[in-house]
Amino acid sequence: MIKKLSEVIPEVDTHTHTVISGHAWSTVTENCAAAAAKQMKGLCLTEHGPGIPGGAPYFTPHSQMMIPEMIGPIRVYKGMEVNILGIDGRLDVPDKQLQYLEFGIASFHAGGAGIVAGTESENTEVYIKTLQNPWIDTIGHADEPRVPCDLEAVVLEAKRLGKLIELNNKRVPADGFEGSRALEYALLCKKHNQRVCVGTDAHFHTMVGDARRMMTLLESIDFPPELIVNLTIEGFEAYMQERRERLQGITV
Ligand SMILES: [Zn+2]
Ligand SMILES: [Zn+2]
Repeated sequence: MIKKLSEVIPEVDTHTHTVISGHAWSTVTENCAAAAAKQMKGLCLTEHGPGIPGGAPYFTPHSQMMIPEMIGPIRVYKGMEVNILGIDGRLDVPDKQLQYLEFGIASFHAGGAGIVAGTESENTEVYIKTLQNPWIDTIGHADEPRVPCDLEAVVLEAKRLGKLIELNNKRVPADGFEGSRALEYALLCKKHNQRVCVGTDAHFHTMVGDARRMMTLLESIDFPPELIVNLTIEGFEAYMQERRERLQGITV
């Protein structure tokens, strides 16, 4: 019998943090052990960049090459959640470093960290420009209400570029998803047949793989499972292959 989406743990968690992010509380080893205990197959290390206090240094992508590809049964995909520093679209990690990543998320962490978001149209424009960076695979939590944007425009640009939309478990309100931006975003992905990655945004190892809120939301709207690239490691590896082809011949 096919499992209901709400009962599925994605085999690859595409958004996790470790202690090097500055305000996360588990190590790479602990996150991998937690993933293995849930019979998962992989996780993306997506460490915060230096643009927020305590974030990992700009040379993290190069440094991550010291981490093995496999830790126990878990495939460790090297990645970062870089910061969009303002509406001019500057990132806090240079392309020379981004080129080493296997998975790149770019996020606008406005408020509290000296990073200021713009108007809805400015934020939309910066998200679209950021998606066009070849090393960036997705925008982190674009449904974050503090950074208003045109979610449909973001979905359509990701589709045009063959990139992903991140559906972030932490953006689903604990008291229900009715009327939430998270629901609106997921519905737009369904409407446009847009591929997504479901990430937990884990800042502690017990959160790794726990995407229940988002998976329950997706089940409620009959979201096509084949659009979720990280449900299985084979699905995610297929995206990785596509990414390598996309990046072939691109130099910094
Ligand atoms: Zn964080
Ligand atoms: Zn974030």
